[in-house]
Amino acid sequence: MLLLTPGPTPVPEAIRVAMSEPTIHHRTPEFEEIFAKTRELLKKFFDMPEVLMLASSGTGAMEASVLNLCQKKALVINAGKFGERFGKICDAYQIPYQELKYDWDTPSSVDDVEKALKNDSDIDTICVQVCESAGGLRHPVEAIAKLAKAHNPEISIIADGITAVGVEKIDTTNIDALVSGSQKAFMLPPGLAMIGLSAHAMTKIQAASRGFYFNLATELKNQQKNTTAWTAPTTLVIGLKAILESIDEDGIKQLYADTAARAKATREALKTLGLKIYPKVPANSMSAVLDDDAATIRKILKQKYHVNIAGGQEHIKTTLFRINHMGIFEGYEIPWTLNAIELALDELGRRPYDGSANRVFCETLYK
Ligand SMILES: *Cc1c(COP(=O)(O)O)cnc(C)c1O
Repeated sequence: MLLLTPGPTPVPEAIRVAMSEPTIHHRTPEFEEIFAKTRELLKKFFDMPEVLMLASSGTGAMEASVLNLCQKKALVINAGKFGERFGKICDAYQIPYQELKYDWDTPSSVDDVEKALKNDSDIDTICVQVCESAGGLRHPVEAIAKLAKAHNPEISIIADGITAVGVEKIDTTNIDALVSGSQKAFMLPPGLAMIGLSAHAMTKIQAASRGFYFNLATELKNQQKNTTAWTAPTTLVIGLKAILESIDEDGIKQLYADTAARAKATREALKTLGLKIYPKVPANSMSAVLDDDAATIRKILKQKYHVNIAGGQEHIKTTLFRINHMGIFEGYEIPWTLNAIELALDELGRRPYDGSANRVFCETLYK
């Protein structure tokens, strides 16, 4: 079965092999050396001065960032399930917040953020997704962060890059906490979260110690000594090191270029089939299609063509399908999937099969 869901993504064979060694103890010079090297590579990858690794899924890093950076009030951008989650985290810690709510196909606007900041001087943190995975849309995070810092440099910007770090080059100039997780663009099994930190974030974290397991002041102190506060997910860190070592600086650029090209060619092919790309500003991590037959198309793909793509959530659970573009792909994977979608549309009596999807994908990518 081809796994083409936007997380979890398949783990490359070389990385699986790297993680198959016997478990080593985390309080050893041997692991500290691995941890130190991984930290160094990760800082480069994030293009940020500091980075923390946590044994949790991505949500844990979202929670840790909110808990440790927001002291007064948060401005939460909610254009889907994951934006909504930032609000739920604030609720859990009784942190006051204002929500800017959008339809799931609509990115946030810089003007809305500006208005909110002007109207409420208590706001000291902005929480936003780089890519909101619920609808596959790209928020203008860099522009929002720039505007916010110009308004008040003390405001902290938390950007959830779980489906963006490793997908595209993110301008981190004005971002304070860039959250990521192992099971999406990093091509690792689930269980490791990463947060890139700015100098501003480090100052904030060290000034106020919050939480226990997710106390980032404690983590910062330990991880700067190449160890972790609690037991490190050693196997995942070894996998992460292997991934980062396999992608040098040119490799990163190539990965971003390949992902963007794959996303563009896929969207062109889907449009050729008469399908509707859902988000107004699509991110490159996935292609999301809104269609009344989405659930049936997914079922046909799974049963007949052995391709697993993702559906939607909540009000678009059965009317959305999402195809992953994160990670390293074999050349045949997307063409096969698009071919299967075109065959499914034929089966549903919507459009006779003529190989257009495959042709447009290949022409867009290679011609
Ligand atoms: C997957 C995802 C998360 C949640 O990550 P978990 O690893 O399931 O906790 C958060 N934000 C975005 C944008 C995601 O795509």
